[in-house]
Amino acid sequence: MNNSSTVPAVILAEGREKALNRKHPWIFSNAIAKVHNTPNRGDTVAVLSSKGEWLAWAAYSPASQIRARIWSFQQHEQIDQAFFKQRLQRAWRLRQSLFNTEETNGLRVVAAESDGLPGITIDKYQDVLVVQLLSAGADAKRKQLVAALLEVFPKHSIYERSDVDVRKKEGLPLVTGWLHLPRDSGEVLIKEHGMTLVVDVVNGHKTGFYLDQRVNRAALRRFAKDANILNCFSYTGTFAVAALMGGAKHVTNVDLSDLALETAARNAELNRLDLSKLSNQKADVFKLLRQYQEQGKTFDIVVLDPPKFADNKAQLNSACRGYKDINRVAMQLVKPGGLLFTFSCSGLMEESLFQKVVADAALDAKRDCLFIERLQQDSDHPVASFYPEGYYLKGLICKIY
Ligand code: SAH
Repeated sequence: MNNSSTVPAVILAEGREKALNRKHPWIFSNAIAKVHNTPNRGDTVAVLSSKGEWLAWAAYSPASQIRARIWSFQQHEQIDQAFFKQRLQRAWRLRQSLFNTEETNGLRVVAAESDGLPGITIDKYQDVLVVQLLSAGADAKRKQLVAALLEVFPKHSIYERSDVDVRKKEGLPLVTGWLHLPRDSGEVLIKEHGMTLVVDVVNGHKTGFYLDQRVNRAALRRFAKDANILNCFSYTGTFAVAALMGGAKHVTNVDLSDLALETAARNAELNRLDLSKLSNQKADVFKLLRQYQEQGKTFDIVVLDPPKFADNKAQLNSACRGYKDINRVAMQLVKPGGLLFTFSCSGLMEESLFQKVVADAALDAKRDCLFIERLQQDSDHPVASFYPEGYYLKGLICKIY
C-alpha cells in the first residue's frame, strides 16, 4: 500500500473479515480492533485484515455503530469524481435497460448499497434529481458526487433531501436545499405507465414520491375493473389513479395528510378522471376501518400500504401485532370473493414472516385467504445479492372468501 504510514486505516479484529469476504458493505464498530492515523468523519480509510492485508476502501463514521461503509474492493480505485461517475453510469444504464425512460420518467437512479454507493439514494423526476445522503461518507463526498451527477445528467436541477433521522446516528445535521439550478417550486410532473402524477420534491414524503410502488399500481390496475376500492394510507392517491384508469367503479382514498389528499384530487384531475368516482377522506385509517366494520360497509378491493411499523429489531414484535390487527380488520371489509392488496415496507419484516402475519389475520377474521400474487418493490430498486437488507417492500394480493 502506498503511503501506508499516513493513510488512515481500520484494522479488523481477528476473524471479522467474514462479512467483508461476502462483499457485505458494512463494518460494525465491534469488528474493528484498531484505528490508525485518526480519520475524520467521512474520510476514506483503508480496511486491513488483522494480519495487515489490504481488503477495501471505506468511509469512516466515528459516531455510528456502522463504523465504516465500503466504497470499493479494488485497491487501485480512488474515491473521486470519476469513481462516482462510473457507478452512476452503471446504475443509470440498468434503469435505461428496464424502462422506457421517456414514457416513465420518475425513476430511482441509485439505490444506495445495492448500486455500490452506500448511504446514497438518488431519484430522478423528469429533469429534477433528488439526492439523499444518509451516511458520513456520502455526506463528505457530496461535491464529487454532485459534479459526477451533472456529467451524467447535464442541465438537471438537483435538490437535497437529507432530512432523514438516520443521519443523526452518523452525527450529521438534517439538511435540505437546492444544490444546482434552483427552482421556485419543488413541484414536478412525472409520467408513469400513461399517468401524469404530481411529485413535490420539497414538501413530499421521502424524496417526494413512492416510486417503489409503480409495479404494484400496475397490478391493481389489472384487477380494478368495475371494483369499489378502499385505498388506505393513500398518500397522493396514485393507486387510485391507476385503479380508475383500469375501470374502477369508485375509489376512496384515506390519509391523515391534507396536502397528500389535495394532491390526490389534483392527480385525478390531471388524468381527466371522472371525479364523481373518487372520494378523498381525511381520517385515521385504524379508526375508520373499525367504523366501517361497525357500519357493515364492504369493498371489492382494499389496499393497505401503511408506513413502516418497525425501525429496529426491538420493535418487530409489536410491528407484527400492528400488521396482524390492521390486516384482520381490512379483510373483514372485503366482500367474499374480493381482494386485499397488503404491503409491508419494514425491511426487518421478512417475506415469510409477513405472510405468516397475514395468515394469522385471516384466522382471526374467520375468512379464507388465498395468496394469488406476490408483490415487491419495482426493479429500479434492485437488491444486491450481498445486501439482502435492500429488499424491504413486500406485498401480497389476497383473495378473500
Ligand atoms: N400508498 C402510497 C404511500 C403510502 S405512505 C403510495 O403508493 O404513494 C403512508 C401514508 O400513510 C402517508 O401518506 C401518511 O400520511 C399516511 N398515514 C400514516 N399514518 C396514518 C393513519 N393512522 N391514518 C391515515 N393515514 C396515515
